[in-house]
Amino acid sequence: MKRSTINILASYIDALHPIIYINHFDFKVIDDAIARVGAGVKCVEFNNALGIVDFMSKSPMRDCNLEQFLKLTMDDGFDQETFIILKDVHDELKSPKIISLLKRIAENNLYNDKYSATIFILSEITVIPRELENFITVFDIPLPTTNEILSIITDFINDLNITVEQDTIDEIAISFKGLNEFQIKQILNLAYQDGGCIDKDDKQLILKEKEQFIKKSGMLEIVSFSETFDDIGGLENLKEWLKRKAKVFFNLDKAIKFGVDVPKGIMIIGMPGCGKSLTAKATASLFEIPLVRLDVGRLLGKYVGESEENMRKALRLSEAISPCVLWIDEIEKAFAGVGGDGGGNEVTTRLFGQFLTWMQEKENTVFIVATANDISRMPPEFLRKGRFDELFFVDLPNGEERKKILDIHLKKRNKWHKGIDSVALIKETDGFNGADLEAVVKDTIEMAFIDGKDAITTKDLIKTVKDTKSISNTLKDKIAEIKATIEKIDIKPASKADSH
Ligand code: ATP
Repeated sequence: MKRSTINILASYIDALHPIIYINHFDFKVIDDAIARVGAGVKCVEFNNALGIVDFMSKSPMRDCNLEQFLKLTMDDGFDQETFIILKDVHDELKSPKIISLLKRIAENNLYNDKYSATIFILSEITVIPRELENFITVFDIPLPTTNEILSIITDFINDLNITVEQDTIDEIAISFKGLNEFQIKQILNLAYQDGGCIDKDDKQLILKEKEQFIKKSGMLEIVSFSETFDDIGGLENLKEWLKRKAKVFFNLDKAIKFGVDVPKGIMIIGMPGCGKSLTAKATASLFEIPLVRLDVGRLLGKYVGESEENMRKALRLSEAISPCVLWIDEIEKAFAGVGGDGGGNEVTTRLFGQFLTWMQEKENTVFIVATANDISRMPPEFLRKGRFDELFFVDLPNGEERKKILDIHLKKRNKWHKGIDSVALIKETDGFNGADLEAVVKDTIEMAFIDGKDAITTKDLIKTVKDTKSISNTLKDKIAEIKATIEKIDIKPASKADSH
C-alpha cells in the first residue's frame, strides 16, 4: 500500500479516531498497513468464523464470539497501546451488547489518558450503527492515480526482467484507471501468462477484465457500443450543443485555464424510442471516452446506510474511470418516490440528495447523460439550472427527421437508392418515432428477401407503414402527458424546426 495511504491511517489513529471502519476486500493489504502503522503496538484480532486469531501468523487461537472477545480485550488498552482488529463483523453491529462494548472502548480511548486502544473494523459491507456514528471514521483506500499505476506496472516489469516500450506502458496505464492495486497486478499476471510479454494487444484483455471487475462490483456497467453521431437522424440542436462541449472536453486543460467551466452533463427528456439512448452512446463515441451506466435500483441495500455507501462507491468509481460518460437511464424511475413517505422512499430521498450534492460540487470529468420519459413526478430541484448544463426535449421526429432516420436505417442495410420517394414517406409516417421507422425498414427488407426481390421500393415501404401501429396510436395518452409536462418547464428542443 502507498506511503500516503499509510500516513493518513496513522494520522487518524493519532487524532484519536477510536473506531476506524475500513471497507475493503483485500484484508492482507490492510493487515500489512496496520502492521506498518502499529510497529510495537499490541495487535489483537477477531475473525467472525475463527474467533481469536494470532495477528501475525493468522493461526486460530481460541474459538469464541465477538462479545466474549471484546470483554477479554477491552481493558488491554490500559496496559499498552492496543489495536483491536475485527474482521467481517458487520452482522454483529446490530447487537445492543456489542454496540455498548465498542462504545465503552471508544469512550475510554477518547477520555481516559491512561488508556489507548483503536478498533479497526474490516469488512466489505459497511454497517454503521446510529449509536456509534460519532465514534466511527470510514477510511477509504483511494484508487491509484495514473502515476501510481505507472509505478505498479514498472515494478511488475522490473520484477520479471522484461522490456516493454514506454509508449505501451503509458497506454496500458490509462486503461487501468478505476482499478485497485490488487486488480492491476492480477491482470498484469494474466496478460503476461497469456503471451509471455506485455504489449499493446493486452489493452483489449485489460478492458475485458476491467469490465469483469466493474460488473462484479455490481454498481456500474460498462456499456459497449458502436453508434456514432452519424447514426442519429435529426436532433440537430442537441447534436450541435454536444459537439461544442466535445471541443471543451478535448482541450480541457486549456479551456479551464481560459475560464471555461468543466461540462457537467445533460438531461434528455422525451418521447420513447426517439433516440435518447442512442444519443448517450453517440456522446461517448464523440468524446472518445467510455460509457458507464448507473442503475440506481441496484444500489439499494438491506442494511442501514448501505445504499448511501453503494452510491458513494459508484460515484467514486465513476470518478476513478473518468473521463467517462455516466449514463443514468430512466432517471425518473431511479428517483421515483423522492420526498414521499415510507422507509423505501426515505432511502431514495437520501440517495437523491447525495447525488444532487455530488453533481452540484463535482469538478471532475464525469459527463452525465440522464435520460427520462416522464418527468411529471420528478423533484423540481433536479431540473433547476446549475445541476445540468442543459435540458433537452426530444419530440417525435418531424418530417425532415423522419426522412433522415429512414435513410440511416436503409443505408445501414445497403438498401437505400435514389428512387425512394421521401416526400411520400414523410406524409405516410406522421406520428412515427425512430424505433417505429427502424422497424418499418427492417420488416420491409425481410419481406423483400422472402419474396425473392433484389431491392425495395417506396411502395413496399408504404405497405409496411400502413401495417405498422405507430407509437402515436399505441401510447397516445402517455404522449399527451409528456407534452403537457414539458410545456411547464424551461427546456430546449433537441430538434431544429422542420423546413419542409
Ligand atoms: P426509450 O425512452 O424507450 O428508452 P429512447 O429514446 O432511448 O427510447 P432509443 O433506444 O435511442 O430510444 O431508440 C430505439 C431505436 O430506434 C434505436 O436503436 C435506433 O435504431 C432507432 N432510433 C430512434 N431514434 C432515432 C434517430 N433519431 N435516428 C436514428 N435512429 C433512431
